[in-house]
Amino acid sequence: MEAITRPETDQAQTNGAPPADAEVIEVRKPTDGSLLAKVPIDGPERVHEVVARVRDAQAEWEAIGYPGRRRWLGKLRDWLIENGEHVADVMQAETGKVRADASNEPTYLADTINFYGTQAAKFIGEESVRPHSPLLASKKLRVQYRAHPVVGIISPWNFPLILSIGDAIPALMAGAAVVIKPSEFTPLGLTEVVDAWKHEIGAPDVFDVVQGIGETGGALVDNVDFIQFTGSDRTGRKVMARAAETLTPVSLELGGKDPMIVLRDADLDRAANAAAWGGMFNSGQVCISVERIYVEEPAYDEFIAKLTAEVGRIRQGSDDARNPKDVGAMTSPNQIAVVEGQVDDALANGARALTGGKRVPGPGDYFEPTVLVDVDHSMKVMRDETFGPVVGVMKVQDSEEALRLANDTRYGLSGSVFGSRENAERVARRVECGAVNVNDVLINYFASDVPMGGWKESGIGYRHGAQGIRKFCRTESLVITRFAGKREPTWYPYTRGKRGLIARMARMFYARDWKRRLGLKR
Ligand code: NAD
Repeated sequence: MEAITRPETDQAQTNGAPPADAEVIEVRKPTDGSLLAKVPIDGPERVHEVVARVRDAQAEWEAIGYPGRRRWLGKLRDWLIENGEHVADVMQAETGKVRADASNEPTYLADTINFYGTQAAKFIGEESVRPHSPLLASKKLRVQYRAHPVVGIISPWNFPLILSIGDAIPALMAGAAVVIKPSEFTPLGLTEVVDAWKHEIGAPDVFDVVQGIGETGGALVDNVDFIQFTGSDRTGRKVMARAAETLTPVSLELGGKDPMIVLRDADLDRAANAAAWGGMFNSGQVCISVERIYVEEPAYDEFIAKLTAEVGRIRQGSDDARNPKDVGAMTSPNQIAVVEGQVDDALANGARALTGGKRVPGPGDYFEPTVLVDVDHSMKVMRDETFGPVVGVMKVQDSEEALRLANDTRYGLSGSVFGSRENAERVARRVECGAVNVNDVLINYFASDVPMGGWKESGIGYRHGAQGIRKFCRTESLVITRFAGKREPTWYPYTRGKRGLIARMARMFYARDWKRRLGLKR
């Protein structure tokens, strides 16, 4: 993107999002606060222009069909495979992720291109439907899925590529044009990929980016035909209210407070290792990260000992490809204050930190990987989304108490249950959320075959699976007359004879016993 200007000298800063009237976004490195780039903000007029431009190219994009679109997206996949490490470099700098977490994102996109590239025809190809009634026997019924012409994507900072281009891929495959508004904290890596689409690959002009914060996001909502939003429930409500003004459909992927249940017959080594990774992965800045853990009493002490040991082994800091670490920095500078506030509140109300518990001193935004015990649902850390490297663990008497507490939340994004397969599966079916992992964590996000979305205040709509592409389409039903006379019996003129015939036919087709069919029983 030509508009990004890189500063000649780094300049330390404290933190925070740009003020509402800013003309540029200053993108900073969370590991030391230095300035990475200044990105000009796109105002409403520019958003309007970009949407109008991609809209112009959309009809041709739709007309080239799945094979044509798959070919272009295949070129993007090849580019990502060749340039994934470079994109990961850029994205690692702006997010403060460790290398392993940053490298996952281009790989996920390549997999998503292959998945929707091969499945699109199955998910949104024309459907032939058999009429349910003999009265429609002369009709051919078809359903076709036509893309919303322009899809707007508003994305967060925790997975800058997965949560933006990851949704753009099915939208493009469906035949839509796409404009993304990335998070103001992490616009750089994503823009490299869209630039490659436009300039290096030279693909059709149906994919672009606009930069900014609330005003830019609001303008995108006003101009597009469908909004895919991923972010906090607070902003999600604003987006939905704005979209209501133009009756623009939305899909909202919002926050979570995901529970993990550990049953007494669980493999406790696996459960503890999963809890450590699922809670601390990407510094806990994952919508589906493990935030609350409920352990059946007989397993509690051993589980806590294993979890504490595993979290204690985590290496935290800034890393590179040759010197790996496990947990990096907090991406948004505001977020570390949220995490600190929740942990302090819990400690002040009787919780104990078995590991961590505080901000790491020195440059960069790091919070220590933290295991809290003696927590309860009166504490913010067990009620509000933490979005940091913190888990709270509670002892429960049995699976009923675990389920009651797991479901005691306004969120319902995902969860996990550990135990013998039969037992864990039985409990998993009763967790109230959009996706549950049995004896694993986070993996549902990579099972693109099945839908994932939030219940309750975790969202509206689904990504992945058939629903992850169908939502970008409008449904058009075709009711096609195969053979017919000059008029139908139901048309004018209405006569007693025709009415009697229709009544006899209705009796014949809709009654479920012979006496009624033949008019012998009334
Ligand atoms: P956020 O709500 O602060 O911002 C999300 C996006 O909305 C950003 O691009 C932001 O610039 C934009 N925005 C801000 N104000 C806007 C407005 N008035 N109109 C339109 N757009 C506006 O969220 P965040 O802090 O970037 O991300 C963290 C949140 O995202 C967490 O709550 C997390 O759980 C959630 N999240 C959900 C999923 C999921 O799949 N359910 C995935 C990742 C993150």
